[in-house]
Amino acid sequence: MSKCPLCGGEKILGKTTYAVDLGDKIIMVRSVPAQICSQCGEEWIDAQTAHTLEEIVNETKKRACQVEVLSF
Ligand SMILES: [Zn+2]
Repeated sequence: MSKCPLCGGEKILGKTTYAVDLGDKIIMVRSVPAQICSQCGEEWIDAQTAHTLEEIVNETKKRACQVEVLSF
């Protein structure tokens, strides 16, 4: 496990909530796997997870609701 580049703290594997505001719509995705700094709380999402999130957001954009809350 690598160190946090911001504070040098230990990064641990955890879950986060990803939220994106598209202006006319807000999408929240819960339980997204992330590396979280145990010291400053900064979160990192790996490339594969980011790609999956992008697909979820693109899929959800087609629906009409103003707020969507999903699980990863
Ligand atoms: Zn940190």
